[in-house]
Amino acid sequence: MTADAEVATVPHLDALPRVRMAHLPTGIDEMANLRAALFPDGGGPRLLVKRDDNTGVAMGGNKVRQLEYYLGEAVAQGADTVLITSAVQSNYMRTCAAMAARLGLECHLQKEERVPKNDPLYRTNGNVLLDKITGAHLHGYPDGEDEAGADRAIEELAERLRSEGRKPYVIHLSPGHPPVGAVGYVDAARELLAQLDARGDRVDRIYVGSGSAATHTGLLWGLRAFGSSIPVTGVCVRRPAAQQGPRVRANLDRLSALLEHDPGFTEEDVVVTDVSLGPGYGRVTDAIREAIALAGSREGLFVDPVYTGKVLAGMIAELREGLVGPGETALFVHTGGQPALFAYGETVLTDAG
Ligand SMILES: *Cc1c(COP(=O)(O)O)cnc(C)c1O
Repeated sequence: MTADAEVATVPHLDALPRVRMAHLPTGIDEMANLRAALFPDGGGPRLLVKRDDNTGVAMGGNKVRQLEYYLGEAVAQGADTVLITSAVQSNYMRTCAAMAARLGLECHLQKEERVPKNDPLYRTNGNVLLDKITGAHLHGYPDGEDEAGADRAIEELAERLRSEGRKPYVIHLSPGHPPVGAVGYVDAARELLAQLDARGDRVDRIYVGSGSAATHTGLLWGLRAFGSSIPVTGVCVRRPAAQQGPRVRANLDRLSALLEHDPGFTEEDVVVTDVSLGPGYGRVTDAIREAIALAGSREGLFVDPVYTGKVLAGMIAELREGLVGPGETALFVHTGGQPALFAYGETVLTDAG
């Protein structure tokens, strides 16, 4: 497939406002040692990792790609202030705060209590420390599972700032809003297909985290729009599969509306697993500890306790069940998140480690 054909497929993609900050394309590494550890007798699929933890801004991760479009829209609208609501140890907030700082925008972070953790490390280290270094304004929100309430609170804050003469732009991650951030992963799908094309390589299944579902939706939408049928498994990090599947489907429709193009999806396109979800968002399980230890000790690769450790644990569970066969290739999208390691501290270690 040629670049011309791709652009012709989704003309609106390159017309949306964007601030370019990410270091792209991100690399693709092979994880031969992890494969050997999982399949000591040989066999098992070849394992690749797309290094979106290295997007090059503010410690990287998937939010850089998403924020290029949100902040592009904010700048295009003449905003001087950006607001976002998310978890205490949110990678989204850290990345937003840093990119806003670089653009000279004031930044307000509303921190929701999603994880029952009072550990001082969790409250002060990792992303929270980095947020403070950027000079962003921090606000609290007492509930963690009330998306509508958190949205109302951030709108009230925006209204107050407006009455003080500022021009706020609110980044809405909850359902019902245009999935602007997902566009970053439509672009990433195009990038990945071009990389595979250049390598003469193929991938049989992609594993990616599914939280707000912007990454999962954007990647899936982009692959299908650019003519690829690679299956994408979204690994649930926040809610069970029965809730996440409909969320992804609704997001696909909203993305088609935003990009004024419908690639056409079947029921089978939306694949989600909650095999590694455990008790919920931000809660560490033994399977996550094992994934963190395996990636670190075999590949020198750091995955985080909230997202990528859970995604890798889900992928490992499916590989052990033989869901991707010998001779096939599975690709893990490393979406970043490592600062959370410092907020979770030794609770991420296995007994052995
Ligand atoms: C936010 C995040 C995800 C989930 O991405 P969504 O687009 O919200 O589904 C996955 N990994 C990391 C490291 C993240 O910070």
